[in-house]
Amino acid sequence: APPTPDDVLRQLQEAEVKFLRLQFTDILGHTKNVEVPRTQFAKALSGDVTFDGSAVQGFTRVEESDMLLSPDLSTFLVYPQFGRDDRERGRVARLICDVTLPGGEPFAGDPRRVLRAQVERARALGLDMYVGTEPEFFLFERDASGAATTVTHDKAGYFDLAPIDRGERIRREIANRLVEMGFEIEASHHEVAPGQHEIDFRYAPALETADRIATFKFVVKRIALEYGLLASFLPKPMAGVSGSGMHCHLSLFRDGQNVFDDSEGEHGLSATAHHFVAGLLDHAEGMTAVTNPLVNSYKRLVPGFEAPVNIAWSTSNRSALVRIPAKRGPSTRAELRMPDPSCNPYLALAAMLAAGLDGIERQLEPPPAIQRNIFRMTVREKRHHRVKELPADLREAVDELEKDEVIAAALGEHVMEHYVAAKRAEWREYSSAVHAWELERYLDLV
Ligand code: GLU
Ligand code: MG
Ligand code: MG
Repeated sequence: APPTPDDVLRQLQEAEVKFLRLQFTDILGHTKNVEVPRTQFAKALSGDVTFDGSAVQGFTRVEESDMLLSPDLSTFLVYPQFGRDDRERGRVARLICDVTLPGGEPFAGDPRRVLRAQVERARALGLDMYVGTEPEFFLFERDASGAATTVTHDKAGYFDLAPIDRGERIRREIANRLVEMGFEIEASHHEVAPGQHEIDFRYAPALETADRIATFKFVVKRIALEYGLLASFLPKPMAGVSGSGMHCHLSLFRDGQNVFDDSEGEHGLSATAHHFVAGLLDHAEGMTAVTNPLVNSYKRLVPGFEAPVNIAWSTSNRSALVRIPAKRGPSTRAELRMPDPSCNPYLALAAMLAAGLDGIERQLEPPPAIQRNIFRMTVREKRHHRVKELPADLREAVDELEKDEVIAAALGEHVMEHYVAAKRAEWREYSSAVHAWELERYLDLV
């Protein structure tokens, strides 16, 4: 059973917590918080803390700005102390909140609510979606003044062993801290590029995983800072080496049973699994603006770095957008490979779930799985297999999002309006900027 306000109050007292952070997420996926001192704990637990929503990007207009934070008590957590500052300041705890309007109605611009709505839609069909993620990130040096650089802190590569891998110590520390915070760490290793790492945590129900991704990013950044480094989840910080993805492993359960698994079915997969995969492929273009939200995201989605470009599925190779890992039984799942860790995890998981459920509801059939390396196929072969490509840039992705009624409906009108406006503005700013590449290439030439 979820804890009651009294349970949480008692834990706050026992752990001698001084400050309680009430956290929520804006439309672009930035975690926000209102911090309250001890005297306000009881008020916070009963959901009576208000904040000015108009100050938060994509939330609301000035005239309807007062909003309430309704804590989800199951997210209660006392933060580990991350360094001297923290130890001097006293213990800090957090609660992740749903955002409500003064009348008590849920606020349509709250990304957590958007995901919850999809989770409930699945529930109505008797289905629970579980998600496991593989977020990748870079550790960079800071310069003498503390400013971030793109100098990687090591020169190691995939699965390299210490002492080359200086990140190992930091990764371990991150893993230990996350374990203290209730994470189950499944693996952590150096990734392909210098300074690039991955830490995988155990799959969980969709909402819990979205909360964890947000917490994970905060903890990784915080601990890197303790070591004088910058942790960045930018999808492609450097051209010519691997970017950072956040593969998502999706599975559906009914009454505790994995519904993708079927030893009689093609590839050992049930009809439901086929429909779900077909839904992911059908809405891939429409959801990319959500799973890959930055101008920079599209510099990762290029051939040659294990990031997907082609809309296809496979049970054997990693060049496809959707890969079905070999394990069957309760571990049967679909791995969606285009998301990157800069996405808003709530909106991204909501979009994935909506896409898959649409496939199930419309009983879509995926095209045949492609078992060859798609990057080695000729244009003609791709056309023959009807393999389309993901949007090439943010502008194309936003156009596709606006065309996709299923994804747009899942996000809801409020989020769509603000999200699309923000992304269009970002694209305009980028495309009117003059970049270093242009000067290098053209300045002398013409
Ligand atoms: N870094 C790759 C990406 O951008 C993924 C590498 C892997 O398969 O772990 O998606
Ligand atoms: Mg990886
Ligand atoms: Mg993977």
